[in-house]
Amino acid sequence: MPCLAKNSEWLPCNAAPMKGEDYCYIHNPHVPENEKKLAQSLGWKSSPVVVKNTLIENASDVANLLSDTLNRVRTWEISVSVANSIGYLSNQFLKAKEVSEYQDKLDHIHRAIT
Ligand SMILES: [Zn+2]
Repeated sequence: MPCLAKNSEWLPCNAAPMKGEDYCYIHNPHVPENEKKLAQSLGWKSSPVVVKNTLIENASDVANLLSDTLNRVRTWEISVSVANSIGYLSNQFLKAKEVSEYQDKLDHIHRAIT
């Protein structure tokens, strides 16, 4: 069920509500106004909550990070722009990891033939 609030034009907000709440981040009366203003001044439409601080070391960690990010976007805990950054960096990480693994294999072959 979407946020129960109405927007400035008195139409239903339709944003996803925060986890366990009836309202999205912007309309949630439990979110302090100064926190909302800070988030909006940063250009965010949702709370500047940081994704769990998990060290990303392999593709499985990236999968868990993306799953966590997806769910936090759906509940407006993090902004779409933050999620997009996480997605972009995750993709770059996986590419770098793949190149690194190829380099390790090439080094192994080089050592074997010399
Ligand atoms: Zn709303």
